Amino acid sequence: MKKEITIIGAGLVGSLLSIYLSKRGYKVSVYERRADMRSEKMVAGRSINLALSDRGIKALEEVGIMNDIRTISIPMHGRQMHAIDGCSAYQAYGKDGQYINSVSRGELNKKLMDLAEVNGVQIFFNHKCEKIDWVKKEIVFDNNDRLSTVHFQLLFGSDGAYSAARLNHQLQHERFQYQQHFIDFGYKELLIPPAADGNFAMEKNALHIWPRGNYMLIALPNMDGSFTCTLFFPFDGEPSFASLNTKEKLTGFFEKTFADATKLMPTLADDFFNNPTASLVTVKCFPWTRQDSFALIGDAAHAIVPFFGQGMNAGFEDCSVLNELIRKHSDDWEKILPEFEQLRKPDADAIADLALNNFVEMRDRVADPTFLLQKKIEGRFSSKYPDKWIPAYGMVTFSPHIRYSEALKRGNFQQAVMDEIMAEPGIENKWDSEEIENKILARIEMG
Ligand SMILES: Cc1cc2nc3c(=O)[nH]c(=O)nc-3n(C[C@H](O)[C@H](O)[C@H](O)COP(=O)(O)OP(=O)(O)OC[C@H]3O[C@@H](n4cnc5c(N)ncnc54)[C@H](O)[C@@H]3O)c2cc1C
Repeated sequence: MKKEITIIGAGLVGSLLSIYLSKRGYKVSVYERRADMRSEKMVAGRSINLALSDRGIKALEEVGIMNDIRTISIPMHGRQMHAIDGCSAYQAYGKDGQYINSVSRGELNKKLMDLAEVNGVQIFFNHKCEKIDWVKKEIVFDNNDRLSTVHFQLLFGSDGAYSAARLNHQLQHERFQYQQHFIDFGYKELLIPPAADGNFAMEKNALHIWPRGNYMLIALPNMDGSFTCTLFFPFDGEPSFASLNTKEKLTGFFEKTFADATKLMPTLADDFFNNPTASLVTVKCFPWTRQDSFALIGDAAHAIVPFFGQGMNAGFEDCSVLNELIRKHSDDWEKILPEFEQLRKPDADAIADLALNNFVEMRDRVADPTFLLQKKIEGRFSSKYPDKWIPAYGMVTFSPHIRYSEALKRGNFQQAVMDEIMAEPGIENKWDSEEIENKILARIEMG
């Protein structure tokens, strides 16, 4: 008899997980704190988007939904960098045909819920997990102030970075390792609406970045011609969310710092003062599973900062790996769950570190001529020797067969090689020479 499965959280990962499990013949019930977003109107003017890349796409293809998602995705082939003087420059993300996708978080979540229900999953909305008794295997939900108790056989906690399942289950056990780290930067969403003619006000097929050293603004395109901008900014100090506390200070700062974007943001002050300032957290914990009856997955197991655009992609990859283990171990959860956490924990730790490092790259280094030269050298070498060198960004974003932990290891090695190459006297004049190529080859050979 297959176990009945209970999932807490019908977000991106919980919904996808429920599809995988129902397709494998499991009876799945999902309990979600919020109301059904499909029957609620989205808040006007706010559409939050995410970068979907190859790891997430692989999972969506496995459950047969990717063709649907393509219809609501906008390809972004590279970064469009906006300098402080208004000049802009474009850097392709990878080789021709390699791109990431801007997708509306809400639309993606709705499509996943639709598909879950088509496959027989039952979703209970307005059910907030309040308590878990892991001995009796019972969960207490708050349903609009009415408490109800649900028994579970196998429970997944996919309720996000501030997981109640993690708190009410794993944290009740001895020797549960738990670490949360908030960075000193928060984020706020702002809007660039469509131009007067209804078209995109900037290049549509790019992820726009205004790198400004210690902080940055980014923008991703939406299907309606608008861009959702995100300002990643210090909480305190000068400048910071705390210091931009009047309309005059805000507009003065934006007009000086993000002049080209500010012209396209008619609702800047309203957005800035009305939209929440949110924090950014990395969560590392272990173990993720308990016997054959409990597992954390997605952000609940490994929340990361968003600078590599990989949080959702990593959570989708969790589901794909778990699905493969269910097949491998013929539904024997005593074998599936331990192997799942052993396999995924090093990869989750690696992408957490890569994501933190990428903040510095995005907000600062992308505007640095030395960094751009290094990228040119790497790009040239990797197109000539694709089996010897894949740039770190490509390994994470476009190479789902390479584990995150492997991408981190190989990326660190390649960075050490590039540090030596960039220290070569006169590198700016001989970066595309045979001499440099041979030096890289010799260095790789040395290991
Ligand atoms: C600013 C920002 C930008 C990002 N950009 C990207 C990107 O470009 N690409 C990318 O791959 N990732 C990105 N991410 C990360 C991505 O949003 C997360 O990794 C992803 O949403 C994780 O999915 P999840 O289902 O695990 O958690 P969530 O999406 O947080 O879903 C958790 C669900 O559980 C529900 N829930 C919570 N508590 C309870 C409870 N007590 N009882 C019942 N239900 C509960 C919630 O309502 C929610 O529906 C970004 C994150 C941020 C903050």
